[in-house]
Amino acid sequence: MANQTDLQPAPSKSDRSNLIPFSSRLRDGRALALDVWTIFSAANLPADCINLGQGYMNFAPPKWITDAAEEALNTVAPNHYSHPRGRIRLREALKVFYSPQLNRDLDVESEILVTSGANEGQYSVFTAFLENGDEVIMFEPFFDQYLPSVTFNGGRPVYVPLHPPKDTITHPTSNDWTIDVEELRRAVTPKTKMIIVNTPHNPVGKVFTKSELESIAAIAEEFNLLVMADEVYDCLVFDGKEHVRIANLPGMWDRTVTVGSAGKSFAATGWRIGWLIAPKSIIQPTLAASTRIVFCTNSPLQEAAASGLEQAKERNFFETQNEEYAERRAILCDAFDKLGLKYTLPEGSYFILLDISGVDFPLDYPFPESVLGRGRDFRACWFIANEIGVSSIPVSEFYCEEHANIGEAYGRFAFCKDTDTLRAAAERLTALKKYLK
Ligand code: GLN
Repeated sequence: MANQTDLQPAPSKSDRSNLIPFSSRLRDGRALALDVWTIFSAANLPADCINLGQGYMNFAPPKWITDAAEEALNTVAPNHYSHPRGRIRLREALKVFYSPQLNRDLDVESEILVTSGANEGQYSVFTAFLENGDEVIMFEPFFDQYLPSVTFNGGRPVYVPLHPPKDTITHPTSNDWTIDVEELRRAVTPKTKMIIVNTPHNPVGKVFTKSELESIAAIAEEFNLLVMADEVYDCLVFDGKEHVRIANLPGMWDRTVTVGSAGKSFAATGWRIGWLIAPKSIIQPTLAASTRIVFCTNSPLQEAAASGLEQAKERNFFETQNEEYAERRAILCDAFDKLGLKYTLPEGSYFILLDISGVDFPLDYPFPESVLGRGRDFRACWFIANEIGVSSIPVSEFYCEEHANIGEAYGRFAFCKDTDTLRAAAERLTALKKYLK
């Protein structure tokens, strides 16, 4: 990892290129190290590499949703500031969508907040609730953005493992990644303020079971913790598995903020439309923070997201989309099965963790500087992207430095791509055979 001194040499009298020292919070949040999304971005890989790395679709949102975006752009009001809480049409649509799922009549004025992507929503919760030194528990592997979002706001991340499947399991599913409730309990200190529960989970694909969530809820209750339920993949759950909202468990509504995302729901990751659902006691302080961070979220795409939610039911949109994703998942799983490689069958989200520990690459392969200082998985994924033509994301990025070795065994392959692309990737992956130990 680059450190501040590398990037910021002491200024000399004649050198005016680095006059102003930047904040040490960038170092604490791992923000100075090149992020994995940049290292493995299409721009850094061969032009014909099939991108199964960063999780975004290679297809557009449905036409009936982009039509709504166009209509909004052609109307005066949605071209201007929206209310910091979000446009009323989207808040109403969220109320209709979530109220039955949360078994309550949500109040659009105090219990729903539209944010500039789920990311900004989460950031605003941290700003609103963390004091310097407060601890935030997250299961590891964790979505990498949590780390800087916590530390930029003075918090300290505390990691509790999601234990990988035992070696004896020949065909693991995401349910074989397990939590140890006693480990979670031991991680709680007088400084613990929050716990992040990401279900369905990125990068594991785990859909937390009701009983796991009940154990987490009991600890949150016992130690008075705020629960951030990052459920941005809630519309992507397979095999008849049930997505349980922790906010629905007895007593949990009062201490839980549920996070959602139009990007994942409607194949619109660049729109940056997300939302938070929580009691007034959580939404009001978060609104105060969010208003001062971004003021409001882009208006026309809120209208489009609203139309997505409004019409989803009559169009059977989420059910159809789920079936499409199950088909996409199967194409990639088949390819891994044919190679005889172990992977975690995800029950939710659109990521598959492939065991890449057996991929044998030449040590003298011309790796760029950006991957050389990192875990073995960075080199393995780089090698696969360049030699096989399919990119993925090295999973050690989702671990703290101390535990990075656990993640080094895996590459994360995203299947949010059309079936032709996934079939082409599957075909290319057959060539991996000759590099397997
Ligand atoms: N959530 C997406 C992923 O995990 C994108 C993350 C990002 O680009 N910051 O692939």
